[in-house]
Amino acid sequence: MVPGARLIVLGKQGAGKGTQCVRLSRRYVLPHISTGDMLRAAVKARTPLGLEARRYLDAGDLIPDSVVLAMIAARLDQDDTRTRGFLLDGFPRTVAQADGLDEILKPFSIDLVLDLVVPTGLVLARLMSRRVCEDCGAIYSTFAPPKLNWTCDFCGGDVVQREDDTEEAVTRRLALYDAQTAPLIARYATAGKLVPVDATGTVEEVAGRLLALVEARLGAGGAGA
Ligand code: ADP
Repeated sequence: MVPGARLIVLGKQGAGKGTQCVRLSRRYVLPHISTGDMLRAAVKARTPLGLEARRYLDAGDLIPDSVVLAMIAARLDQDDTRTRGFLLDGFPRTVAQADGLDEILKPFSIDLVLDLVVPTGLVLARLMSRRVCEDCGAIYSTFAPPKLNWTCDFCGGDVVQREDDTEEAVTRRLALYDAQTAPLIARYATAGKLVPVDATGTVEEVAGRLLALVEARLGAGGAGA
């Protein structure tokens, strides 16, 4: 893939954005910017942002656009994203955030938007069984737990169920996705940036499809090169 590419990964909760972004980010040495991870880290560190964000996060509500945009603007101002590009995970999530992102990036723009497509019935089951490492964010499930006692295989942190992976909060997040985030799909399709990816099947199968599509669009011989 061309160096410095600017990518967005869209997809409803449980579509596998986090898992696939970690892989893509390692493969292309691309900074992985997850607003959910950044917000959870702020809550854990009890920063002013974290104290404000906590009640939204626990309820499964969206953080106000202005707060998220300020956080993203600060992150995209760091040098690594200018030289290496980036992979946005969980952002933008509203039309106002997409507008704000366009402003922040000027005179540049997003190269590609990967949309991980999964049926809602499947994501509900994935989310209810999801478990995450509190420290490094590694993702497990009740079917694929860490090797020892819910202790992270990578960093030794505690592996837990996220506060917002309860049935009530999940239902709320999925409804918000349909209302607020789904309209972005049409926006990026019109701009010729959208690539839908079938996100059913195993992690490896989805990863293989993603790589093939990214290479086709942004590889040395692709249209974006
Ligand atoms: P999921 O996609 O499964 O909801 P994330 O880790 O991406 O998980 O986000 C968790 C929570 O963080 C969201 O429910 C929301 O409260 C908050 N959040 C993350 N990204 C954004 C964003 N771009 N705008 C507003 N809130 C956000």
